[in-house]
Amino acid sequence: ITGFDPYRVRADFPALHQNVNGHPLVWLDNAATTQKPQSVIDATSHFYAHDNSNIHRAAHTLAARSTDLFEGAREKIARFIGAAEPREIVFLRGTTEAINLVANTFGRTRIGNGDEIIVTAIEHHANIVPWQLLAQATGAVLKVVPVNDRGEVILEQFAALLTGRTRLVSVTHVANALGTVVPVEEIIAIAHAHGVPVLVDAAQSAPHVPIDVKALDADFLVLSGHKIFGPTGIGILYGKADLLESLPPWQGGGHMIKDVTFAKTAYQGLPERFEAGTPDIAGAVGLGAAVDYLQQVGLPAIAAYEHALLEYATAGLEEIAGLRLIGTARHKASVLSFVVKDIDPHEVAKFLDRRGIAVRSGHHCAQPALRRFGVEATVRASLAFYNTREDVDALVTALHALPKS
Ligand code: PMP
Repeated sequence: ITGFDPYRVRADFPALHQNVNGHPLVWLDNAATTQKPQSVIDATSHFYAHDNSNIHRAAHTLAARSTDLFEGAREKIARFIGAAEPREIVFLRGTTEAINLVANTFGRTRIGNGDEIIVTAIEHHANIVPWQLLAQATGAVLKVVPVNDRGEVILEQFAALLTGRTRLVSVTHVANALGTVVPVEEIIAIAHAHGVPVLVDAAQSAPHVPIDVKALDADFLVLSGHKIFGPTGIGILYGKADLLESLPPWQGGGHMIKDVTFAKTAYQGLPERFEAGTPDIAGAVGLGAAVDYLQQVGLPAIAAYEHALLEYATAGLEEIAGLRLIGTARHKASVLSFVVKDIDPHEVAKFLDRRGIAVRSGHHCAQPALRRFGVEATVRASLAFYNTREDVDALVTALHALPKS
């Protein structure tokens, strides 16, 4: 499709080379999680085999090694997303924990009774529920930017929702249930013109498009390692240094303190203040290796290749009788969400699994997004750079063979 060679990168992913139910595995569940290159698996197992130690505060050699590896991973991720400094990167369990951290620090100190938080109609539950919990506790109000029938955020309506009470805009970059690429650059520019900070949920964009937090001028940005070919259980919160520095801690415990007495505790600066307890050290090391891998392949090349593959797949699906695509934004990434006639999406997914094709079925943790289109569940096939036209052909051929209802 382009100069990029998916067959070469496939060789780096051991999990892709297996038979499932008698067929070569076709992994089209990348929006849920991605497979891992050998370099990530090796980095994690090498850490446990040779360098394993808790980090910080120790005189011994393995502690120094594991601390260097952990902090080295932070530097890699800072470079990967264009952060000004590594201390702007907080290691957490993933996108969900990162949004909850912002809700419980920024939210608890800057958002009060009658203040407003704006999200879009196509958010993952992880970018809805933490704000609802905050709203319940504080009396704040959650406002929702509508989308059009293609699943595109209506920018004029967004601008109209901003008021003197708006304290935060929290938006997804790519919608996980529909694949819509949200124009976060414009959203940030509009919000900043009103003095309102913006959190970008990059969980679904980071595997597909280059991210530069400085160019975006994002105030917060969150992502999950497991969706960018890294381990599960590790992810990051990016925040502008002065903004993070102005926030109180959320979880309390070891690592995040300067000095503790029973009367009073003084907290560390960035990023330790937000990293209470022993983190997923091996996970961070693996995430560093994933970022190295992605930078080697190159996100611009990945984005161009996937764009063409998504168009090819869309054209293939449009040929299938009775198939309705949910989410037809002009600017999409990775995701093909659809229903077929009146066949239960779960039955479609089971049918595909018998042919070795892994797709997701259900509400994809985005019930309001799907209900906007009058459905409770879809089948979701989601692409990554290691998918090929053959993968898409296998999906399309299988869907043509669905039993007529
Ligand atoms: N936001 C979006 C857009 C997502 O796609 C996901 C994962 N499906 C999340 C948030 C939550 O990520 P995690 O489960 O890794 O915390």
